[in-house]
Amino acid sequence: MSEAERLDAFMARANAAYYAGRDPFGAAGDFTTAPEITQAFGECLGLWAAVTWTMMGSPATVILAEAGPGRGTLMADALRAVGAMVPDFARAARLHLVETSPLLREAQRARLPDATWHEDLTTLPDGPLILLANEFLDALPIRQFVRRGDAWMERWVAGGAFVERPAPDAPLPGEGEEGEIREVNEPALTIATTLGARLAVGGGAALLIDYGPAESAPGSSLQAIRDRRAADPLADPGGADLTAHVDFAALARAARAVGAAAHGPVPQGVFLTRLGLHSRAAALAASEPGRGARHLEAATRLTAPEAMGRLFKALAISHLALPTPPGFEAA
Ligand code: SAH
Repeated sequence: MSEAERLDAFMARANAAYYAGRDPFGAAGDFTTAPEITQAFGECLGLWAAVTWTMMGSPATVILAEAGPGRGTLMADALRAVGAMVPDFARAARLHLVETSPLLREAQRARLPDATWHEDLTTLPDGPLILLANEFLDALPIRQFVRRGDAWMERWVAGGAFVERPAPDAPLPGEGEEGEIREVNEPALTIATTLGARLAVGGGAALLIDYGPAESAPGSSLQAIRDRRAADPLADPGGADLTAHVDFAALARAARAVGAAAHGPVPQGVFLTRLGLHSRAAALAASEPGRGARHLEAATRLTAPEAMGRLFKALAISHLALPTPPGFEAA
């Protein structure tokens, strides 16, 4: 039997193998994401970035970054929209992509040949920044803790099953209900801290869209998706996409602790509706009569509470002096 591996190490290894080995998106893939559902998603996010750049005082150059760009669809749609509507922003933007999968980097290069690639956020150049990330944080490795008696145990993986080991370093409060599970996404918290610290100095904003509850909640949210169905997360590392809910409240706290502002989370349906997704879908439907219904259905899928409108949320981290970014106005 293989050595026991802490859950975050297992998840990191599994997802690195998963994303290195395939393009998981689209009709034939394991799952689909908002930018693959409709071009209007990336277009609205591009205009969000353009308005944010204007709020920043329209700096002559700005780093436009995306973390975990998948096929590059979101950014290609965003750049096409801003090229047509806010050409000064398109000229000011320097494109930087954070992506670890060599296979997906090639897919991105085909659509975004002018980009510079990075392994992580720490090598992005200094200066004003606008960063977009959709379904990036949910793929980062989590730790899971279980309350046993008056201590936290940690979940490790051995032979396709969980085993529990003592966790004297658990980054959790000293109390909990017996058997309660708590998740901690340390890389996501590090990213919120890194982004918050650099935005507080260099200016700008980051828009993080992902799925998870508005408030930190106990329980396991670890899931595996393969062929559009739930699979056993521990059975076949690298064979399925492993994700966990994003703890938006914890990310907002981490960013505020280093001197940045945090806005939201706002449910995706509310956020995209405020950005004009439905008007854009209606315009696309009118311009393509044969595919009109598809454009409208896609907008509904992204915004309806029972589809992706409520579980998915948007969080912005920004410089304290920046006005509230578009879509985050108080309800
Ligand atoms: N944003 C895209 C893709 C989401 S899938 C979309 O919405 O369609 C997650 C993306 O993050 C993939 O591009 C994957 O290769 C990338 N990724 C996963 N773990 C990463 C890590 N640790 N560092 C950088 N990129 C990562």
